[in-house]
Amino acid sequence: MNKSIPVSSACDKPQKQTLWLNVNEALDRMTGSVKKIQEIEVVTIREALNRVLAKEVISTINVPPYANSAMDGYAFNSIDLPSSGENTVTLVGKSFAGIPFKGEVKPGECIRIMTGAPMAAGTDSVVMQEQVQVDGDAITIQSGHCKNENVRHIGEDIKDGDVVLGRGQHLSPAELGVLASLGVAEVTVYKKIRVAFFSTGDELRNVDETLDEGQIYDSNRYTIFGMLSNLGVELIDMGIIPDDRQAVEDAFIQASKQADAIMTSGGVSVGEADFVKETLDKLGKVDFWKIAMKPGKPLAFGFVNDAVFFGLPGNPVSVMATFYQFALPTMKAMMGLNVTKAPVVKVACKSDLRKSSGRTDFQRGILQMNEKGELVVESIGMQASHVLSGMSKANCFIILPQDWGNVEAGTLVDVQPFRGLM
Ligand code: AMP
Ligand code: MG
Repeated sequence: MNKSIPVSSACDKPQKQTLWLNVNEALDRMTGSVKKIQEIEVVTIREALNRVLAKEVISTINVPPYANSAMDGYAFNSIDLPSSGENTVTLVGKSFAGIPFKGEVKPGECIRIMTGAPMAAGTDSVVMQEQVQVDGDAITIQSGHCKNENVRHIGEDIKDGDVVLGRGQHLSPAELGVLASLGVAEVTVYKKIRVAFFSTGDELRNVDETLDEGQIYDSNRYTIFGMLSNLGVELIDMGIIPDDRQAVEDAFIQASKQADAIMTSGGVSVGEADFVKETLDKLGKVDFWKIAMKPGKPLAFGFVNDAVFFGLPGNPVSVMATFYQFALPTMKAMMGLNVTKAPVVKVACKSDLRKSSGRTDFQRGILQMNEKGELVVESIGMQASHVLSGMSKANCFIILPQDWGNVEAGTLVDVQPFRGLM
């Protein structure tokens, strides 16, 4: 259902109505309203790590470029492989990786061959060295082997002319290796998008300051720094902006001049000192949303001049949840990436979970193997949106649908892992 209900609550600022959206509507609106970056550049394949391919790569060679052996052993013509009993043939040479056998191997002959070494003319099968008897030049093979055994064929990985990598492909270590295997030294990628980010709040202090009463450390700028860095964008850290009308307005103007996207945390809920909302009403085309989710209900999204604006909530867990669920896929679209849905697995939940219906919960969980080797998830415990240590203990979101209430232990739940292999 793609319908949003405009709601004016007594607490809302009069300038703009707040929209109630469910998680999918919010995501569709955000990804659907941004444009992909157009600027491209040519970089070496090492520089291309974690970048986005802007031009498809077509292979101009076969990989492997020649038929070669998958084992250390002996290469034969398959007519010499006995169907019963055994057969003895004569060793006439060797093919090592990088030093091929030049001549032709005739029936009744074989060569020593090592893994990766080219097959010689006249050979089509390799028998492992452990499976032959060697007596000087006399090599004896038993029955039970077949044609093409242990041979890697020309082009079986990639063929000359294949489109190997498409536009929008994320370049991970595997792609760097594939490009290198084709002899491709440089690729065309999209330029990195620039993201300016700042925290808002009079209570916030930097990590190198001491706290007075009523003050807390600014943690959001560090989680945001980390998540943006992993995404591979150019960062413009604008620090902490106090709850001062002019300071907030100046920060937005400056950010919009330098960046493709602006990300803030705090100041989008309804509070006395929330100047973010007021400033954006003045400067931008920004919508204020209440998303039917927990954590992370208030969210602002839109444009400040030409820059895309993500106004994340202030609570530290809400920041991470809304970043992963909305800002991440939206920025991926801006970066030119082919956006795929984050994988979700269904597993049994070991804990009872408290939940009120009417919103989608992204509870923090620990996904692991039980004694029987089955994947199970359990809650990290306290689920409040200011408990950032829970985000550090967790390795996944337990996604509970909008219409669910409390969950009993043993129920199958959707789990979205957020930690990878590295
Ligand atoms: P706000 O939306 O600005 O009212 O903030 C909601 C809650 O998040 C408050 O408890 C703030 O103190 C807290 N908060 C806001 N920004 C940060 C930040 N950068 N780091 C840690 N906590 C924050
Ligand atoms: Mg605030």
